[in-house]
This record gives sequence, C-alpha cells and structure tokens, in this order.
Amino acid sequence: MSIALNLDHALPRPAARGKPSLVGLSRSELAATLAASGVEAREARMRASQLWNWMYQRGVTDFAAMSNISKGFRQALADNFQIDRPEIVSEQVSSDGTRKWLFRFRDPQNPNLPPVEVETVYIPEEDRGTLCVSSQVGCTLTCSFCHTGTQRLVRNLTAGEILNQILMARERLGDFPGGVRPDDGLVPAPRGSGGSEGDSRAVTNVVMMGMGEPLYNYDNVKQALLIAADGDGISLSKRRITLSTSGVVPYIEPTGREIGVMLAVSLHAVRDDLRDMLVPINKKWPIAELLQAVRAYPGLSNARRVTFEYVMLRDVNDSDADARELVRLLAGIPAKINLIPFNPWPGTNYDCSSSARIERFADIVNAAGYASPVRTPRGRDIFAACGQLKSESERLARKDRDALAAS
Ligand code: SAH
Ligand code: SF4
Repeated sequence: MSIALNLDHALPRPAARGKPSLVGLSRSELAATLAASGVEAREARMRASQLWNWMYQRGVTDFAAMSNISKGFRQALADNFQIDRPEIVSEQVSSDGTRKWLFRFRDPQNPNLPPVEVETVYIPEEDRGTLCVSSQVGCTLTCSFCHTGTQRLVRNLTAGEILNQILMARERLGDFPGGVRPDDGLVPAPRGSGGSEGDSRAVTNVVMMGMGEPLYNYDNVKQALLIAADGDGISLSKRRITLSTSGVVPYIEPTGREIGVMLAVSLHAVRDDLRDMLVPINKKWPIAELLQAVRAYPGLSNARRVTFEYVMLRDVNDSDADARELVRLLAGIPAKINLIPFNPWPGTNYDCSSSARIERFADIVNAAGYASPVRTPRGRDIFAACGQLKSESERLARKDRDALAAS
C-alpha cells in the first residue's frame, strides 16, 4: 500500500525569474555577493551570517520574515535575490514510512532552460531518519544493475539544488523551528542525536546515494556538504553524512581531506572481470587501485569505518567463494560490509539472491569479524529503494538547449 499526498497547500513556489538564488553560496561567497551589490565589507560578513542562520537553521524563504534585519535591507535583498525552493511534483509515502519526492528544479539564471526532475528519499528508522540525496540528474556511468544507469546524464546538480533537497525534506517533515510533522503518524522523532536540535530532528543523517555519481560532481557536492555540516549551516555531524562512490579513485583522497564525511564504496564484485561488467568504471580504476585509495582515506579508523556496498545478484556474485574472497580482499581495512538485496526494476535481467543465499554469504562475512547488516529494502511499493531512482528528465541536444535559452 502507498499513499499519494494532496499537495495543494505545498505547491508551487516556482523560482522567480532572473533573480539569483542565495541557497548554496558559501559564507564568503554570500558576503562577496552582498559586497558586490554595494554593502560595506564588514557589514556584508555580518549579514551573510544572519542570512545563513535564517536560510539553514530556520528554513526561512521570505526575506520579510528576517526580523533581525532592517526593513530597508530586507527590501533590498528581496529586490535583488531570492531564496528558491524546487517545485514538488509528487510526494509518495510507503506503508513503511519511506517517503519519495520528485522535485522539479529550474535554473533561476536560465529560466528558459527546461526544468530537471530529481528524486529524494526519506527513510525513517527507530534511531535515525536518513535522507538519500541525489547529486546528478541521471548518471554518466552505466552500472548494469542500476536503474539510474539507464538514464543518460542530463546535468550536474548545483550546490543549491543538492542543499535544497535537504531543506525541502526538512520543511515537509516539520524539521524547522515552528514546523509541523505530517499528521500520518509515519514520521517518528528519532532518538539519535542530530546536531544542534538534539534528538528532535526527523532528518538526522544524509547519504549521497540517490541519482548520480557524487564524485563526478565533486565541487558542487563538496560545497553542499560543507554547508550541511557547518554548525551555522544545517549543522549535521560529518559522521552522519555518507558519500557513496562507484570508485572514482582520484577524488577519494580529496573527499576525506576536504569534505571529511564518511565514505561508502560500491564494490559489488571481487574479481576485475566481473566488476568490469557490473560497475564499468572498474575498467578505468580496477579493484586493486580502488582498495589502495580506500586504505589511504584520510581519517579512516576503527571508529570511522568505510562501508563497502555489495549488491546481492543471484548466481552472479553471491557464491561462498565470492564471500571468502571478499573477506580476503578487505583484510586490514576498517570496514563495514553492507549487503544490499538487489532491487529489481522494469527491464532488468538480474534477480535478487535468495534469502538463504544472502544469509549464508553474511555468515561467512560475519565469521571474519565484519559487521555485515543486510539492508532491508525500504519503500519498495513506491519504487524508492536503492538503485530504483530514475526521473523522466531527458537530455536535450546542445543545439536545442541553445535554441531554447535564446528564445
Ligand atoms: N553513484 C553512487 C551512489 C548512488 S547508488 C554509487 O554508485 O555508489 C547507491 C547504491 O545503490 C550503490 O551502492 C549502488 O551500487 C546501489 N544500487 C544501484 N542499483 C541497485 C539496485 N537495483 N539494487 C540494489 N542496489 C543498487
Ligand atoms: Fe551511477 Fe551509482 Fe547507478 Fe552506477 S550505481 S549507474 S554510479 S548511480
């Protein structure tokens, strides 16, 4: 069973044409933007901090509500800028409480470009609420078991669009001060601590595991996650933010050094010939190079383990020998192994391994001393599980985009 919500009251606040959005600017970029429009440098820095607080801590989108900013300055801000939000195309709620949003983003600078649609998923659990965020519309990679991989890359999301998935979800879940939880009883207040508001937040964790390869959109992902983790920004602990990569080796070390979030790696196979087929980026950066980069991940320790994701595909990568080889390969790396039952999608040729097979595989991995939780598929009835996200946004040929932008 799933419920589709009536969104009359939530729709839409399409980005006002032309005005640049302030969402996603770093503190210094925001100060520089204000300074460029005539605000004195010291005041600009102070205003930037105030604006951050209103945008990220309180979720305010209307400059008029910013009560510690003078009326004249608020008006000047409103005349020149906007705090944009995406349109919610749909919001679906699974019987297990998982929520999936389809957001429509327009580029405020280029309102003539076609909008893009992006999926974001919220998974409530007893001790946490995890938001699964997208980094791209589509994906350039073509992992053979992933639905997103069948959608060509439309474009990278901007830092503002990545953050706006978090802000919009928090708004819909009543996470900002004065907000109201949805009244369907499916959003428990998790007990885990989630930053400055303690245990009252619905969104306590963020995983970059939606559509796209985050390390192929490194700069925007970095900027968004640094704002998400900033104490004056969304204020999520870096230990509660996880970035999942299919294995873009050159960006693994910078991710640890410059962003400092938890790392997850989509391994899925223990032999290069098989991984070449499942995760074709392996042809560029094979298993040995990938594991070397993971071993050198800054900050890796027993308290900050890397997660290896391993999708369970029947008769493909799920034998006892595979499990033993997995354990051998990862020896010495502080790691968790996340076994993901394959989530099917229309047109796939793969099947999920049987539960008995998954259990046996998990036993071998556990016996070697690894925690290997089998990820329970969530939100299957609304097609929100791992690897099932695919939006209808189509890539336009460049000449069509240019024609549209010029029209
Ligand atoms: N592009 C990144 C992050 C997005 S995918 C990456 O590949 O890591 C998040 C996780 O879901 C990855 O481990 C991915 O391999 C896995 N996944 C993709 N399709 C899946 C499917 N159909 N069933 C189960 N897991 C899937
Ligand atoms: Fe892209 Fe990740 Fe899907 Fe591979 S698994 S196609 S990298 S989204």
